[in-house]
Amino acid sequence: HAKAGRTMCVELPENGCVSVSYHTVLRDSTKIAKYIESVMRKDNDSVGDFEKPRTVAHLTEPGSEYLSSMWGTWASGFCTVPLATSHREHEFEHVLKDADPEIIIIGGHVARGEEEGAARTKTLPPHNEGELLQAANAVGMADRIVYLRDLITDDATMTTGESTSENGNVDEFHLGANGSIPSLDSPSMIMYTSGTTGLPKGVLTSHRNIYHQITDLVSAWQWKPTDVALHLLPLHHVHGAVNILSCAAYAGACCEFMHFRCDNVWKRLAEAAREEQTSGESSGESESAHAKKHMRKPNVFMAVPTIYSKMIEAAEHNVLEPGIVPDATKTLSEMRLMISGSAALPVSLNEKWKNLTGHILLERYGMTEFAMALSNPYEPMNKRLPGYVGTPLPSVEVRIVDENNNIVPPESGKSGELQVRGPHVFQGYLNRPDVTKKEFASDGSGFFKTGDIASYDKEEKSFKILGRASVDIIKNGGHKLSALEIERDLLEHPFIAECAVLGVPDETWGERVGMVCRMKNGEKALDLDQLRCWAEHRMARYKVPSRIVVVDEIPKNAMGKINKKSLKSLFEGTLA
Ligand code: ATP
Ligand code: MG
Repeated sequence: HAKAGRTMCVELPENGCVSVSYHTVLRDSTKIAKYIESVMRKDNDSVGDFEKPRTVAHLTEPGSEYLSSMWGTWASGFCTVPLATSHREHEFEHVLKDADPEIIIIGGHVARGEEEGAARTKTLPPHNEGELLQAANAVGMADRIVYLRDLITDDATMTTGESTSENGNVDEFHLGANGSIPSLDSPSMIMYTSGTTGLPKGVLTSHRNIYHQITDLVSAWQWKPTDVALHLLPLHHVHGAVNILSCAAYAGACCEFMHFRCDNVWKRLAEAAREEQTSGESSGESESAHAKKHMRKPNVFMAVPTIYSKMIEAAEHNVLEPGIVPDATKTLSEMRLMISGSAALPVSLNEKWKNLTGHILLERYGMTEFAMALSNPYEPMNKRLPGYVGTPLPSVEVRIVDENNNIVPPESGKSGELQVRGPHVFQGYLNRPDVTKKEFASDGSGFFKTGDIASYDKEEKSFKILGRASVDIIKNGGHKLSALEIERDLLEHPFIAECAVLGVPDETWGERVGMVCRMKNGEKALDLDQLRCWAEHRMARYKVPSRIVVVDEIPKNAMGKINKKSLKSLFEGTLA
């Protein structure tokens, strides 16, 4: 891709537009690799193992700096730890103590010219840089910090293995110490789980794991070198880092990065439709404007359900500038691929999105421990089933197991824990061999226990996720209820904008259904009797929430996920 002179990414900070080629990313990663080697291989040539990997952490805003830090670390043979741009000091402390990085790279402030028509001026420092510095100080790692700007400036001391022009010899790029490529079975990345159910766990993968995670998706979703993904997600989770960025890089495609702000995304999508009309006209425009105009139109869009929900709400409530929605929906309707994941996508949202754009969103299921496992089909679009997550990806095996560890035959339609096996499944939780052991099936089969409850629908030939065993399965009398299914039904209610359903302890029933919700149109309360009346023909009586708490905003983490355990306290003192 470097030889072909392809653009790897376009960064859209608030104040301009920067485009970076694969060539530049490789050149930067070569410089980073050489620095890492000069520090980390000095007295000890080992790259560590899965028990004690030797790591390099980096904090970079989403964009090319993330990729060159990751590839630079890999090329030097070590294991990368992407840090989160949403983290605060105490969260960094946890990660730094756990992963013990020998080098901590901080991105931003790279001043340089050139790059394919656009001046590469300055990239922004990560906005939570100060929090990381404090955390590094607190855990005695301040002396491990280096700034990317000092490693990749043109006058950095590295001279071999780099080329200075876009047509330079790509073979000279640095691939591993002494020209040797790191083993596929060595530690490659530590990515932390979202922390929805507890302290984030460090998920350690090998290069082989990531290779399979990527190649499965590139083939299932038919990534192409001509693709341009509009990238709105953080890069410390697989959704942003593997499903979008790494797949795009593998395919030689381009990512256009922007921070998610609903109105900005709508605006960018509208602009893309307008640019297409005006491209061809040339004038004495600035380099940045020139680059922007010649950007290819995004044709891949992946997001979490909250993003789709916010975008739909903004379109419905007419809060956007006139003309934005019609132009933007033109771009959206012409997309090649639109995906939702990381949390359950309510059927009603998928339907609304279809009305707006003509696309049925492709929902898939995955987790940090193995990236993706189940996916609805790419083609034909009408075989994508709202409310379902599809079938296993090419190298993935799944099974459903009941509470007594018996395998549930898929045709039975019964639900149980979903377990996953394949070359994409991680090596273990860092520093937590006890947890790793517990999370793999005790029968020695190598299946990983996801903790999610699923069922297979033999008519539809597709899997359905019913929720996490720990918080989404409500035990009410003799019934086991899926919070996700109840949420799907409740979202049909005309006043409910968003809801989280959970079990509330009850002396008689074990648990009863509780709902935390945000209301539409400024409504402040929801009457229980009215809700029961509305729900009568829609769901069984015992599924209708008997406790309701109305809030202005349901708290969520960086991936738009709700920590249901923390919502439980809201029900203290509420009446049945
Ligand atoms: P932690 O493990 O720290 O509690 P987490 O499980 O939220 O956090 P991730 O690995 O980011 O961390 O998320 C994986 C989880 O997200 C899955 O186990 C599943 O519960 C949920 N999930 C992902 N995709 C879907 C989907 N399409 N439908 C329903 N749930 C999903
Ligand atoms: Mg998890």
